[in-house]
Amino acid sequence: MATEIKTKALFGKTPEELRVLIESFGQKPYRAKQLRDALYGERVASVEEITTLPVELRERLEAEGYTVGLPELAQTAKSVDGTERYLVRLADGETVETVWMPGGDGAELPEADGDGYKRATICVSSQVGCAVNCQFCLTAKLGMRRNLTAGEIAGQVAAVLNRHGVQVGKDRINLVFMGMGEPFLNYDSFMDAVRILVHQIGIPESRMTVSTSGIEPAIRRFAEEPVRPNLAISLNASNDTVREAVMPITRKWNIEALLEAVRSIPLGKRQYVTFEYVLLGGVNDQPEHAKEVLALLKGMPAKVNLIVWNPGPGVPYEQPSQESADRFHKMLVDGGIPAFTRRPRGRDIYAACGQLKRTVEEPGLVSIQ
Ligand code: SF4
Repeated sequence: MATEIKTKALFGKTPEELRVLIESFGQKPYRAKQLRDALYGERVASVEEITTLPVELRERLEAEGYTVGLPELAQTAKSVDGTERYLVRLADGETVETVWMPGGDGAELPEADGDGYKRATICVSSQVGCAVNCQFCLTAKLGMRRNLTAGEIAGQVAAVLNRHGVQVGKDRINLVFMGMGEPFLNYDSFMDAVRILVHQIGIPESRMTVSTSGIEPAIRRFAEEPVRPNLAISLNASNDTVREAVMPITRKWNIEALLEAVRSIPLGKRQYVTFEYVLLGGVNDQPEHAKEVLALLKGMPAKVNLIVWNPGPGVPYEQPSQESADRFHKMLVDGGIPAFTRRPRGRDIYAACGQLKRTVEEPGLVSIQ
């Protein structure tokens, strides 16, 4: 079972929680705003650095055990394509992985960096391990250890932004909640993190995408949210039989229930729901599967991201042939569904989709001082 962790981390608290805390110290409300600006605007790493607060207040916060509490980027591995994967250490010693992908998320061509602006996508984890048990996924092998707090989810982003000296509002940053874990099984903390990232850190929700394996009740809640990222559904099969074998969660909510929930999401004129489809050689990549996908998504504002499966140790699937991947792609496009084949990022360091697993013992990871 997931256990909640109680910390005295300041990062992750809402403005209201900061106000209550500061007032409990007998301080004026404007001190709470200074604290908020330091945490989310300046993204300070320690209470000591919050020089807008009086020394006595900082000392009192520290004496009572309060810390900024940003997750620590403990180790990194850098891919030949510029992708960096981090082993991120949390306050209780658990670790997750976060990935920095300069230039885009692989669904688009890298943009020129000649104008001096940084463009990158950060892939964020939402749980330590995962309970969903998708059969193609390395994270599933860890099982479920615990949910991340809102501060730990948003904090991964802040830590990576700090490492790369990103100026939010000037540089172009996309976030994908597609790292370790199922965000919709940690719904409240995930949405709290989204609100911190949007309202406090300043990354618009239109630049965020959350991927779910299809937690139907959470999709219906998500549909009601006033501020929400773009949605990606991890579909990965064209009928319930194949999907049950690849994603056992289908036994709980089948494809029809999943699509019904997706249809409840109000979309703007040019908005799409993205369907992620990992192509597994001989399992779900045949012409009959493409035909079934077309029938499922008929009439929906949908686009499909095809991901050529990344081989991983101990996972019993084969990579699809280039020919079958190309044929699948063409059949979707010819059938009227926009489809993109994801350029794998960081395959050499196990940072691509379904490959996040805490592999501390692995060569290629180096410590960050
Ligand atoms: S693909 Fe996502 S939901 Fe499925 S087991 Fe892996 S981390 Fe969990």
